[in-house]
Amino acid sequence: MPAKGAQVDVIVGGGVVGLSVAWRLARAGRPVTVVDPAPASGASHAAAGMLAPVSEVTYTEAPLLRLGVASLRRWPAFAAELAADAGLGDPRTGLDLRSEGTLDVAFGADDLVALDELAAYMDKLGLPVERLTGRECRRLEPMLAPSVRGGLLAPGDAWVDPRRVTAALLAALERLDVPLVREHATGLLREDAGRDGTGDGDDGDRAGRGSMGGDRPGLSGGTGGGSGGRVVGVRLRDAPDISADRVILAAGAWSAELADVPVRPVKGQIMRLRSPQPLLGRCVRGTVHGASVYLVPRGDGELVVGATQEEMGFDTRVTAGGLYELLRDARELVPGVTELEVADVVAGLRPGTPDNLPLIGPSGTPGLTLATGHHRGGVLLAPLTAAVLLGEESEAATLCSPARFRDIS
Ligand code: FAD
Repeated sequence: MPAKGAQVDVIVGGGVVGLSVAWRLARAGRPVTVVDPAPASGASHAAAGMLAPVSEVTYTEAPLLRLGVASLRRWPAFAAELAADAGLGDPRTGLDLRSEGTLDVAFGADDLVALDELAAYMDKLGLPVERLTGRECRRLEPMLAPSVRGGLLAPGDAWVDPRRVTAALLAALERLDVPLVREHATGLLREDAGRDGTGDGDDGDRAGRGSMGGDRPGLSGGTGGGSGGRVVGVRLRDAPDISADRVILAAGAWSAELADVPVRPVKGQIMRLRSPQPLLGRCVRGTVHGASVYLVPRGDGELVVGATQEEMGFDTRVTAGGLYELLRDARELVPGVTELEVADVVAGLRPGTPDNLPLIGPSGTPGLTLATGHHRGGVLLAPLTAAVLLGEESEAATLCSPARFRDIS
């Protein structure tokens, strides 16, 4: 039970990040409320769920790699406790947490050269990877195309089903009696901010309307940031304001609608295929003529094929071109995918930041803490994010500090 007089946190956003933070805080005895009109419907619903810091490494992202490795280390205990709290039992079945590794394969001669360079770079970083021939790859994964020329196995990489994770988080929160307010936050309540509380500056469907309680003296509830005053709560579209000692902004790609944070939407299209038997035993990713594609197998035969990366603003249309490219490249690696039934196609919005690192920690505005900007790795980084906010991860807290950007408010 929360300690009497303890700080009250309101978390705006119930994706994998906001729900994970809420669950860990509640478990630590902190009073917490989650606000989200449609929990688990954002990027977390689209995500493939790869927990793959090693095979995702790029030449310019060594800090992200360190964060990913630290969070992956936390995943087994996080999953076991979550499965127990949600009443699911074994996390392998309950969350489809798997740890057979990722196989990164190359198709053409250019792709093979790129893979060799990546292997040398990983070796320099001391990362545990094994360079394999095409034949060795096919021995591990018999459904790979004969034309696969070589691969890199990251045996420590894992994956999970993010839809099961968010469902489990919601169940665990309900069991802990954490209030979930199914409302849209139209603004942050600020002391002495000198704004009119109408939510001006927002756009379209998410514009601030119906600000009940907006006439409280000395408070304003505008969207966007820049008004400076201490944040003391959240304004809701169709319900009374909620006051808080601390607001934790975890609204993913939409975070910039509530505060001045450098977060933008990065569209990703992804599809789920279904086969009677699992086609693959581990995650397979590959570069086909320069384009990247991955295939993530679930225990029930689902095969996730993703994902595009597009700078299209808040566009979530699934396009024929996007799906065509994913299937074309996936078929080059695993020809059998064309036989599978299409179960689901969706586009999600990753919350991107200028340096691809998340924003976790105090914002610089009193009363406002950030847990956003997780871009391609929010599922992987969810346990670490909660740990940072509980003061358990000092190196990550420094790397992710919002203070690295000026003018956040
Ligand atoms: P979201 O899941 O987007 O949640 C934000 C929540 O905020 C939503 O529920 C929304 O309803 C709510 N919200 C928004 N505005 C408001 C408001 N005003 N008031 C109240 N609530 C609000 N990551 C990995 O680690 N591994 C992967 O394999 C992976 N694959 C991906 C594949 C695709 C196609 C995409 C799109 C993303 C992928 N990601 C992956 C990235 C991952 O999905 C994101 O980093 C992660 O989901 C971000 O979580 P979040 O909780 O911050 O945001």
